Amino acid sequence: MGNSDARQFGPRLFAELKEIALDLTWTWDHRIADLFPALAPARWDDSGHNPIVLLAGLGAEGATLAIERPEARQALEVARTALRQHREQPPMQLAGRTPLMVAYFSMEFGLADILPLYSGGLGILAGDHLKAASDLGLPLVGVGLLYRQGFGRQRIETDGNQSEIYPEIAFEALPIERVRGAHGPLEVTCPIGEREVRVALWSARVGRVRLVLLDTDLEANPPDLRAITSRLYVPEPHRRLPQEMLLGIAGLRALRAMGIAPNVFHMNEGHGFLLAIERMRELVLERQMSLEEARLVTRAGFVFTTHTPIAAGSDRFDPALVRGLLGPYLSEVGLDVDRFMDLGRRNPGDATEPLTTTYVGLRMSDHSLGVSRLHAAVSRRLWKDAWPGLPEDQVPISHVTNGVHMPTWVAPQIGRLLSRYVGEDWCDLEEDDPRWAGIDAIPDADLWEAHRRLKRHLIETARASGAPLDPEALTIGFGRRFAAYKRANLLLHDRDRLQQLLADPQRPVQIVFSGKAHPADQEGKAVLRDIVALARTEPRVAFLEDYDLGVARLMVQGSDVWLNNPRRFLEASGTSGMKAAANGALNVSILDGWWDEGYRPGAGWAIPSGATIDRPEPDDDAEAEALFRLLEREVVSTFYARDSSGLPGRWLTMMRAAMRATLARFSARRMVAEYASRCYVPAAERVEQLQLLPDWGG
Ligand SMILES: *Cc1c(COP(=O)(O)O)cnc(C)c1O
Repeated sequence: MGNSDARQFGPRLFAELKEIALDLTWTWDHRIADLFPALAPARWDDSGHNPIVLLAGLGAEGATLAIERPEARQALEVARTALRQHREQPPMQLAGRTPLMVAYFSMEFGLADILPLYSGGLGILAGDHLKAASDLGLPLVGVGLLYRQGFGRQRIETDGNQSEIYPEIAFEALPIERVRGAHGPLEVTCPIGEREVRVALWSARVGRVRLVLLDTDLEANPPDLRAITSRLYVPEPHRRLPQEMLLGIAGLRALRAMGIAPNVFHMNEGHGFLLAIERMRELVLERQMSLEEARLVTRAGFVFTTHTPIAAGSDRFDPALVRGLLGPYLSEVGLDVDRFMDLGRRNPGDATEPLTTTYVGLRMSDHSLGVSRLHAAVSRRLWKDAWPGLPEDQVPISHVTNGVHMPTWVAPQIGRLLSRYVGEDWCDLEEDDPRWAGIDAIPDADLWEAHRRLKRHLIETARASGAPLDPEALTIGFGRRFAAYKRANLLLHDRDRLQQLLADPQRPVQIVFSGKAHPADQEGKAVLRDIVALARTEPRVAFLEDYDLGVARLMVQGSDVWLNNPRRFLEASGTSGMKAAANGALNVSILDGWWDEGYRPGAGWAIPSGATIDRPEPDDDAEAEALFRLLEREVVSTFYARDSSGLPGRWLTMMRAAMRATLARFSARRMVAEYASRCYVPAAERVEQLQLLPDWGG
């Protein structure tokens, strides 16, 4: 391309670069991501590694000049080819005869470092769900909220206390676009009490899947309504309910305005519960169904995933609040406020009982699921009252065990080994594919070298935060929300013994902690303060501030051991352990959540716990003792047992076993395929059947 040609093609080239940046496929395919630094190496760091900011800074002219460099042109070719490959992959074959379109509703989505619309595991899971749906070519659209300030960032004060800061997010720096219709930007409205709030629609492109985001921060709205989408998880119910109304009611209206017609609706946790009512409203007003008919058709098409293992984890709304904010809307649907409240009550008819969103989700969905086998058992016990008279083991809550999006979470260094020894398409293989045996052929030296590089990266980051960690010492990672039940401080139960582990001159152990406490969780904040204090006094302990997707990636890819010691039955899934195992870290974990299914002798360790589902109260001291014993007798000695070439042979065998047990079985690809075959397809067929019944209009 000569110079004058380049200029002529400038606008078209710039449009193509923008399209590549706006398609989040680059977040999990480095062949595409590598384009941006190649385009403008000197500007990449300044952009905060944000392709949208980079391109805005370059402008069409700058981009045209940049692409004249051969490295940049080459990188563009590679990115183009990779993106085309993703888009042209054949879609998964679905069993049903009914065309499927799934709408997936979630209060948070964790997709990329530069799109901070999540707080933790629930959001990362939702992001991984969209990415896997894109890989599979499953027809699915996500619906969520666009927050001005997100969940806030963590700051550790000099006294060790956590504070939160809420910087405004500049939407023009995000990989999103306003949704436009024939007459300009599309808007919908949502009832809030006697008022209506106007809602702007945005869209993010996650490969072949679209994520629709709702935003009330419009000048046309009064200040209190503008603020509905300011922060994720506001604690006060009178601010939280409008957010959930927006997600459920305006979310469906947004899809309608965009001409998207889902036949299956998936509620990721109960926040979207009003979606069920909005769906009934459509059926009653537009299809002339009775309320009871509408309820049946709605339920048939609904899938609900519950995530919390404690009743208090579900949102609850008082009758007066519901009446004030939802009364006018419900009367339009013809639904009496008390009848509606009953959908969310343990004891329908008890006019004083608040509405619990989980009950609404369970009662309005024909498919209700927990996020691991054990969590489903806990959920059947917790919510059995929604099915009075039914024995607990027949309560219709089953499970689709969570999975993680492997292309996002597996480090490129490990991915290259898998490509070589398993196959270029390792991300797509089913669990029983014989090619997984190739993992056993990865040479010790290569696997150890790949892991050591990743570990060095983690250690360097910890060093930059002031902790003089050793790149060769056994490194334990502990990264998760600081909620008391997760017991980040379990190792503090015996300070002397901890001290001995850390200070062993021959076989030292070091720990990297990271995690946020919920702003309103004082107990969690106290635990965090203890860990920060430990990190400040103990050179072999580091605390990394502001746990997020980027910090999580660093930790799950660079740790030798992934420690998870919650009180048993309280960790519904624990996806960080899957991410770690996929990268070859060895889990040392209570048999809770996914590990109750995932644990295999020789592929990690189980911390013994005496807790049972009938007697769940743990003995913290005994479990701390068991953890120390495991670390001292097995983990440390296995790690430091070196063969003649200085490699930990037995450890490397365990790393390969962990990868093999996790990569296919706990992938988001398996999870989404399972949701499709067990829930989405049967739901679509059932809705179709019901609507064909002659009496029900159509
Ligand atoms: C994976 C992940 C989580 C969830 O981890 P748990 O094991 O459920 O605690 C939370 N936050 C971030 C940033 C993650 O990447």
